[in-house]
Amino acid sequence: MKLKTLEISGFKSFANRTKIEFMPGITGVVGPNGSGKSNIIESIRWVMGETSAKGLRGDKMADVIFGGTNTRAPLNRAEVSITFDNTDHYLNSEYSEIRITRTLYRSGESKYQINGQTVRLRDVHELFMDSGLGRESFSIISQGRVESIFSAKPIERRSIIEDVAGVYKYKQNKEQAEKE
Ligand code: ATP
Ligand code: MG
Repeated sequence: MKLKTLEISGFKSFANRTKIEFMPGITGVVGPNGSGKSNIIESIRWVMGETSAKGLRGDKMADVIFGGTNTRAPLNRAEVSITFDNTDHYLNSEYSEIRITRTLYRSGESKYQINGQTVRLRDVHELFMDSGLGRESFSIISQGRVESIFSAKPIERRSIIEDVAGVYKYKQNKEQAEKE
C-alpha cells in the first residue's frame, strides 16, 4: 500500500486546488514558518476521518475551510482527496486503488466518498482499522506529540510502545482471561 496523491482545495491555507504526487521513497516538505507544512499533514488526518476540531488546531470543524486573507475572500467549501495504491490489498478493500474524498461546507453539510461513492464516516474508519493508519494511530506524530512522548513518564511511554508493537490487545486479552 502506498500513498499516491493528495489533492487539497479550500482547506486551511490551501485556497487554490493543490495536487501533491508522492514519488517512491521518502518525501520531505520544507518551507518557512507558517507556509502550510503542518496544514498538509492535517489535511491527511482530516480526510482519513479526524473528527476533533481541536486536534486540527481549530475551535469548530468549519475552521478548516479557507478563511480568507487581506487579498482574498473566504471560501465556502473545503475538500481533500487522498489516493492510495492498494494493489497488495493491505487496506481492507477489493479495490487496488482507493481514493477517499471528504467535503465540508460552511453550512455544516459534509460528505465522505470512497472511489466516488458516498459512504459513512464509519466506512472510512473501517477501511483503516488494524492497518496501523487512521486517526488514532502513531503513523502521524504532530509537533506537540513529540514533546509529550519525550516528557511522558516511563510507564506511559511503555504503553505507547506496546500499542505500536501491537502487544496492547494481547495484554487486554490476558487480563480478561485471568479475570474469568
Ligand atoms: P511551522 O514551520 O511554524 O510549523 P507550518 O509550515 O507548519 O509552520 P502551518 O501551521 O501549516 O505552517 O500554517 C499556518 C498558516 O495557515 C497560518 O498562516 C494560518 O493563518 C494559515 N491558516 C490556518 N487555517 C487557515 C484557514 N482556515 N484559512 C486560511 N489560512 C489558514
Ligand atoms: Mg508546522
